[in-house]
Amino acid sequence: MDFEFTSEDEAFRTEARDWLAAHADSARDRRTWERTLGKAGWIGIGWPEGGYGNRTATLTQQVAWAEEYARSGAPPRSGHIGENLLAPTLIIHGSEEQKTRFLPPVAAGEELWCQGYSEPGAGSDLAGVRTSAVREGASYRITGQKIWTSLAHEADWCFVLARTDAGSRRHQGLSFLLVPMDQPGRIEVRPIRQMTGTSEFNEVFFDGAHARAEHVVGGEGQGWRVAMSLLGFERGVSTLAQQIGFAQELGRVVRAAVRTGAVDDPVVRARLVRQWAELRAMRWNALRTLGGSGDAGAPSAAKLLWANWHQRLGELAVQVRGAEASAGPADWVPAAPYELDPDQHLFLFSRADTIYGGSDQVQRTIIAERVLGLPREPKGAV
Ligand SMILES: Cc1cc2nc3c(=O)[nH]c(=O)nc-3n(C[C@H](O)[C@H](O)[C@H](O)COP(=O)(O)OP(=O)(O)OC[C@H]3O[C@@H](n4cnc5c(N)ncnc54)[C@H](O)[C@@H]3O)c2cc1C
Repeated sequence: MDFEFTSEDEAFRTEARDWLAAHADSARDRRTWERTLGKAGWIGIGWPEGGYGNRTATLTQQVAWAEEYARSGAPPRSGHIGENLLAPTLIIHGSEEQKTRFLPPVAAGEELWCQGYSEPGAGSDLAGVRTSAVREGASYRITGQKIWTSLAHEADWCFVLARTDAGSRRHQGLSFLLVPMDQPGRIEVRPIRQMTGTSEFNEVFFDGAHARAEHVVGGEGQGWRVAMSLLGFERGVSTLAQQIGFAQELGRVVRAAVRTGAVDDPVVRARLVRQWAELRAMRWNALRTLGGSGDAGAPSAAKLLWANWHQRLGELAVQVRGAEASAGPADWVPAAPYELDPDQHLFLFSRADTIYGGSDQVQRTIIAERVLGLPREPKGAV
């Protein structure tokens, strides 16, 4: 596909850049920032339908916005789960009432969402979900545990995959429910403490929590179909923004290598150049895929490439700095939570890249079975 930016796209890019330059520094609080974005109409520009308070943009304009956002140094988004995962799913599978109720507050940056899929016994094997939702009159009563729920401690709502048919197995009998998080005594969010003492994701316990019957998306028992459809939105245009972030990180590692002299080592030089070349290839591949010329294995191949590229960059980031990179902050108080510096953060957090959004092993199985036509993995192989 010929992926060119027209003069309208460039005008859109300039508008986005100017707006971000004027506002990105002003909002340090994540909730306020979401509302600021919402008020200016920058949330939901990629939704296939307008009219919910969002503006609509062409694919190339979405790319321009994502790239400018990454370049601007604006705060990380806490509304992306609602905007990029829930909203497109509701647009396809939701009722008119659900769209009218839930899309405008997402577009306004007023309501934040989290994703209640994974459980202690159901991660890669999501069909093992055991959380139950029992119909009682006009609502469902939800009991069970979710884990690794990013942003649950900030979210107003959670979309929960739960078993509404008690005797069902695997992909059958599941439903996709929209659950309000503010249910003291019925929903408990326990942050998972990381090695640094800080927390980004959580365990969520449901003890008789309520969801309204009309807040089941796609109909009772259709949860698997809706849940899989949502996972299909997990990447897309944001891949390009992610690559702008990668380029900035690579630039930082190159500068550190020059500063410390690590760049005199020919092996380090070769690895830096390899990272650069692979990043270029990933960009063209992402543009090609967005343009619709990818095959069934393209999303899995892209995930394998970027996740492993990013981990290697993390390893390089600490290698070029040497022993200094493993020290904590100078003013650290023993046992107190602390912030990692950007290279330490890159090194440690990129370990998660090959796990979330479908692990490496799962992506390879998808390619093996759906693209290479290999026999299906024997049951109980792992
Ligand atoms: C940073 C981060 C954020 C997350 N945020 C969320 C969130 O907001 N909401 C949510 O619901 N979940 C979230 N998750 C959870 C994530 O989806 C799961 O971690 C992921 O699905 C893997 O599941 P698991 O951790 O149970 O590992 P398991 O599925 O137990 O896998 C353990 C290991 O076994 C391998 N494995 C499993 N099955 C097979 C197989 N059939 N063949 C070969 N190898 C196999 C895996 O690749 C992995 O290496 C998040 C995870 C991370 C790391």
